[in-house]
Amino acid sequence: MKIYNTLTKKVEEFIPNDKNKVNMYTCGPTVYHYAHIGNLRSYIMEDILEKTLMYNGYKVNRVMNITDVGHLSSDSDSGEDKMVSSAKKQKKSVLDIAKFYTDAFFEDFKKLNIKKPETIEPATNLIPEYINLIEDLLAKDIAYISGGNVYFDTSKLNDYYVLTNHKEDDMVVGVRDGVEYDDSKRNQADFVLWFTKSKFEDQELKWDSPWGLGYPGWHIECSCISMKHCGEYLDIHCGGVDNIFPHHTNEIAQSEAYLGHKWCNYWVHGEHLIDKNGKMSKSKGDFLTISLLEEKGYNPLSYRLMHLQSHYRKQLLFSFDNLDNFEQAYKKLKQKTLLLKDSGDVNKEQFDRYNNIFIGYLNDDMNTSSAITILYDVLKDNSLNESTKYELVKSFDKVLSLDLLKKEEDSIDENLIRYIEEKIKARAQAKQNKDFETADKIRNELLEKKIELKDTREGTTWNKI
Ligand code: AMP
Ligand code: ZN
Repeated sequence: MKIYNTLTKKVEEFIPNDKNKVNMYTCGPTVYHYAHIGNLRSYIMEDILEKTLMYNGYKVNRVMNITDVGHLSSDSDSGEDKMVSSAKKQKKSVLDIAKFYTDAFFEDFKKLNIKKPETIEPATNLIPEYINLIEDLLAKDIAYISGGNVYFDTSKLNDYYVLTNHKEDDMVVGVRDGVEYDDSKRNQADFVLWFTKSKFEDQELKWDSPWGLGYPGWHIECSCISMKHCGEYLDIHCGGVDNIFPHHTNEIAQSEAYLGHKWCNYWVHGEHLIDKNGKMSKSKGDFLTISLLEEKGYNPLSYRLMHLQSHYRKQLLFSFDNLDNFEQAYKKLKQKTLLLKDSGDVNKEQFDRYNNIFIGYLNDDMNTSSAITILYDVLKDNSLNESTKYELVKSFDKVLSLDLLKKEEDSIDENLIRYIEEKIKARAQAKQNKDFETADKIRNELLEKKIELKDTREGTTWNKI
């Protein structure tokens, strides 16, 4: 299996530390608001990665944090704690806010068929572990106390910028959004491990520490949660591209300074979903959620299909026109797959041939759009019998997770589906023969049965009305 590694900036063969088991860590949400559809793009990418690993026979130990403390409005330790500010706005406690949005986040997972990681750990669970790691860094003189906070001293590392093209100059105030001058830092790239005095007045959650009452910086949670559940050697660490700097850069700095050896071999990052105004962001307030798409009548799995048809390392521009196309494409796809039957013998040779091509694409840096093309090829191939098609679709759906064989509760009787498909074919033929009278007759006949036809770029689809 090959995957692009941000650390080496190359597509590389994936070799885990243990040949059968993969330790995979995913940065989770900051639960001060609903996840927007952009956030969910990163989680769809990670879901495909986990399922591709499983399809290859690996057992995956997947861990995710929930950020419920310490993430300030800027990633560079400035501004207000996002959780505190949301709680204030909604006149609720931070923990109530965290619970509400964590539940909403996993509801979105369900709707998008994203597998929930086995281990999910809120940041507030591991305070003693953070204190222990920070004490170790202070003892090694890689951290220092200044202005009431504990900082990581980035000048002590040979290559703090190992994951990124950033340079110290980028940390100069005014170059990056939200970088404020902090005269307690020895170097502007230094970051907070533990807050005590500064950013403190309104902080609702605080803990005793050797440096006084306070709370952890944002980055430390991912290092400690990962080490607790995945051990000292992590195979894959994922997130969106905005996490590369400073979050993942700081995670590497503090984890490797603590461990004294290389920590994680593969860093996998998903590009952003953007809209016509640029990157979607929760802090902009006005954003699209999966529930909103549902309210507008879209199936969340059409949104999933939209991502599968793009490459995770390319930015994707969201538009409703584009989503409309995928809504139709998804309907049409399901109308085909739902007709498949699993009766009779599976042709093993043909199954393996298609399945190998399918895995081959996924193993090529998650080329999901080509994997989807193979699905369409299977459906079109008249030399395959029904059961072979059925088994291939069932197998592919372990990764694609589009519910291709799942009948909806209010699904229409199979015989009626076959009847509709035949009528659509007959109508297309009539239109080709310029026999518009027959074409209209067929449309009306179906309308009487409460079936509405829609002609789209992807062909004719139908709806129950
Ligand atoms: P947050 O809840 O803000 O900490 O972000 C959760 C995840 O969503 C992180 O892995 C981010 O990298 C990712 N993310 C944020 N914005 C986008 C976007 N517009 N497109 C894709 N992923 C995003
Ligand atoms: Zn993280």
